[in-house]
Amino acid sequence: MLTTMLPLKDKDKPMVQMLLLAGCCARCILRFCCVSVHAAYRQPPQNTLKQLQAFISDTENSKSQDSAVPEPPEDPPSKRAKLEPGVTDAVLERDDEAAAAPAPVVRLEEEEPRVCVVCLGILQDMCGTSQAVKIAEAVKAENYEFDTVVLSVSLPAQLCVREHSCWLHVKKEVREKGLVLDKDDVIQVKEAFKWIMQGLVAKELGGIAVVTKSAFEVGVEFTHPETDADCHFLAAVCHDCFKTTKDKQLVFTRMAVVKALEKIPDFKFLKHYPCPPAQPTSSCSPQDVRCLHGSVFVAGRYNKFCRSLPQTPWVIDGERRMESSVEELIAAPLLAAFRADGFNFSSSGREDVDVRTLGNGRPFAMELLNPHRSRFNRAEMKQLQETINKSSDKIRVRDLQIVTRQAMSRMKEGEEEKTKSYTALIWTQKPIQREDITFIDDIKDLTVDQKTPLRVLHRRALAVRPRVIHSMNARFLDPHHFYLGLKTQAGTYIKEFVHGDFGRTKPNLCQLLKTDTDILELDVESVDVDWPPAIPE
Ligand code: ZN
Repeated sequence: MLTTMLPLKDKDKPMVQMLLLAGCCARCILRFCCVSVHAAYRQPPQNTLKQLQAFISDTENSKSQDSAVPEPPEDPPSKRAKLEPGVTDAVLERDDEAAAAPAPVVRLEEEEPRVCVVCLGILQDMCGTSQAVKIAEAVKAENYEFDTVVLSVSLPAQLCVREHSCWLHVKKEVREKGLVLDKDDVIQVKEAFKWIMQGLVAKELGGIAVVTKSAFEVGVEFTHPETDADCHFLAAVCHDCFKTTKDKQLVFTRMAVVKALEKIPDFKFLKHYPCPPAQPTSSCSPQDVRCLHGSVFVAGRYNKFCRSLPQTPWVIDGERRMESSVEELIAAPLLAAFRADGFNFSSSGREDVDVRTLGNGRPFAMELLNPHRSRFNRAEMKQLQETINKSSDKIRVRDLQIVTRQAMSRMKEGEEEKTKSYTALIWTQKPIQREDITFIDDIKDLTVDQKTPLRVLHRRALAVRPRVIHSMNARFLDPHHFYLGLKTQAGTYIKEFVHGDFGRTKPNLCQLLKTDTDILELDVESVDVDWPPAIPE
């Protein structure tokens, strides 16, 4: 028996009848009957339709014995009689176009002729092997590297309105029978679509698992311009549910429509919208398949050996200064290797354009957006590091590794408490002797108050920030020059400590040496952040 294949119960019969008459497709009827057996959706919809028709004619046959299932009052004596005209109309339309089509008698049973009033064709001709082939082809064309894939579906917002209308249509009938149909129990179009398509797409992708959570997402989107106006009445009834664009156009997002439908009383809905929904003439249009791979994060440390290289592109009044930057030199080989669409660069602090970063380098992390390749083993990362290092002598990276997004936050944690070490080349106005600067080595944990430096006032708030210089050492060079080593709290402005910034940093080196001093060169010797972990060479 055909009917034994569908997990339907006697109580579903009146609803199946109503939905068939309302113009619902076979799979939508299963949804409203809360059928959660995936296989029921996966079988050809023509079979399901036949089974549903057999199921209700079975009602007719057993009607005399089963008085608990009365006919809906508006039903004709024979449901088949009412069902067939619709079917026949559609077949005739098709025959007008295709003369070579098989005889209508045969097709009558096999065709699912009309666009479904609820799913707008999505669970009919938008849902099957040919659609799966199209999706798989779009994915293959982008040449991503992936083990699993998640299928995401975007449906036109008016589908919710039509679903609601259809639900109201059957709700009354169901309630009269003393049965309960909760709207949340109705299987969603999206769910049914996935149950059908996931396996088909997986097969077309050569057995790749289509799962519910994956870094790689394949998005299919449907639109249905013909019925876009379906949502519009909701704005008049539930005004504050909808936002407007800049040019005062209302935006009917799916979320807003769902919210409005929760608020609107049934009688108001029924006053403004047909129940069941009106018959559409066309199916939904599938939009281009969108592939998106979650970001990959790459971390490491960089050295900067050049005194004319900014950390990030340097643009003044829309005009670019300096042809390159640290982030671009690191990003270019990474973008190429990961085949990513873009990047976001972050680092533990930053150095001025004329400051070198030596020693172990400065920790950085790079978010690579939509990478088409995402798996690199240790040897490949090492190779990639060499590629970066060979590409320029202005920078060098080490400890290059793939990290998680969560691990990246370690870099920014407690940044203020970290220490940094510097070497500065100092000029003194008054001639000095070796003995004049030895006292500097004895200064420990000197707190300096730094009023926001003049050179950064345009981007930082005016404040006095106390900073600690943990230790210093001086190395005599000649009567007007010496090297000053400093170990400081992160965030200390070294240049201002040396020249005093017109008294805005106190105490400063001029006061300590009782002569004007200036800074000629500055190198960062170490950034004491223990992240990312060192990778043995
Ligand atoms: Zn449908």
